[in-house]
Amino acid sequence: MERGSGDEELRARVRGIVERHVLPFAREADASRTFQRAPLEALAKEGLVGAPIPRQYGGQGMTNEESVIIYEEVGRACAATRGFLAVQVGLVAQCIADWGTDAQKTHWLPRLCSLDAIGCYALTEPDAGSDVTAIQTVAKGRKLRGEKWWITNGTVADVAIVFARTGEERRRGLSAFLVTDFERERMKDAELGHRGADHAHLRFEDAPGELLGDEGQGFEIAMSALDHGRLGVAAGAVGIHDACLDECVKFARNRRQFGKRIGDFQLVQGDLADMACELEASRLLCREAARKQDAGDALAHRFTSMAKLFCTEAAARAAGKAVVLLGARGYFNRFPVERHYRDIKGLEIYEGTSHIQRLIVGRDLVGEDEEKEVLRLHARPPRSRRARTDDTQPLPIVDFHPPPRPPKPPPTKR
Ligand SMILES: Cc1cc2nc3c(=O)[nH]c(=O)nc-3n(C[C@H](O)[C@H](O)[C@H](O)COP(=O)(O)OP(=O)(O)OC[C@H]3O[C@@H](n4cnc5c(N)ncnc54)[C@H](O)[C@@H]3O)c2cc1C
Repeated sequence: MERGSGDEELRARVRGIVERHVLPFAREADASRTFQRAPLEALAKEGLVGAPIPRQYGGQGMTNEESVIIYEEVGRACAATRGFLAVQVGLVAQCIADWGTDAQKTHWLPRLCSLDAIGCYALTEPDAGSDVTAIQTVAKGRKLRGEKWWITNGTVADVAIVFARTGEERRRGLSAFLVTDFERERMKDAELGHRGADHAHLRFEDAPGELLGDEGQGFEIAMSALDHGRLGVAAGAVGIHDACLDECVKFARNRRQFGKRIGDFQLVQGDLADMACELEASRLLCREAARKQDAGDALAHRFTSMAKLFCTEAAARAAGKAVVLLGARGYFNRFPVERHYRDIKGLEIYEGTSHIQRLIVGRDLVGEDEEKEVLRLHARPPRSRRARTDDTQPLPIVDFHPPPRPPKPPPTKR
């Protein structure tokens, strides 16, 4: 299939499915704050839940570049549904596909693709948000004790990827576990956006866990999963941006004030032009990050963070403009822009806030300070600290650099 024409075909097919099965639920799910299963089942039936998972495990074997089209189109209609997908597919299924044993892949992947099982990704704790290395959940003899919160899909999940401490060391002391039996309750307070999503507080009291990857690889696994997830977030933001621009153009063509269409005022045209420029820039950056992930490019991690950062912030600007451009109509829920305006704030926060994405990109550009490294190697630690390794020292700021990932096989084309 030739790149470009195939993408448009895929986009048209997904848009049709989303308009029939997701969009009609979006406003109601938001207003009633209820998690809706029906749109997800429709997406699963159409093969859109496990899109990037290899066919042998029940997926469609799509590339990341194709998958972002799905996230974008679903995100255009409903951020809660797109959020579900980014977790189910990007953070859970792709993570098991990358790191699981044959038995784990054979057991979980077909179920996750068909929606016979729901997955969640449990990293955040009350005292470990941006700083993943502050995780306090512990695993002793494969039994987990601790808590996680803000976990998307948490109350409906059949399996959770849980990150827990198996050693003292900051990074190498973390391991990943598949956990099926744990206590969960819905987050108590009302959310600003993603009101149709399921966000849970999980508790583990000697919950049995099965190791995913090797002991001590938890940090590496968490970061590699976030690369998949962040791509889904960036593409979802492009979808929100696109939806806001569409609403604004429609409104600007129809609404009349001072005897003409508001779209004929140059100030309004300027807003539309800014939104359109940033939308295309976002879409291109997101696609480039996906291509780099597909190619196993060394810059994939940096581009993914750049896409997450730029696309979410550009979409937040677009949603802010859209609310004002629609006047009072932008302020109530007959039009979707007020929902997009609330939802986009979540995309700027989860899977690493904009601050964290800036840190990742900035540090990647500057690189390691070689001089500091030389000095560090030559320096003798102060007497009181000699017994401790560097790895146990707290970092001045959170370290979000993932270690190198194992080489991936080339993506399977449909
Ligand atoms: C809708 C939603 C869904 C979520 N789903 C999940 C999920 O499925 N699984 C999961 O594990 N988590 C999930 N989360 C949690 C989310 O990933 C965290 O909220 C996020 O990583 C930020 O952590 P925090 O809230 O503890 O903020 P903090 O880490 O306390 O940050 C507070 C502020 O300080 C800034 N900050 C922190 N460190 C630095 C630094 N070094 N330099 C500059 N600024 C810094 C942050 O950018 C932020 O502005 C979800 C959150 C939301 C809102």
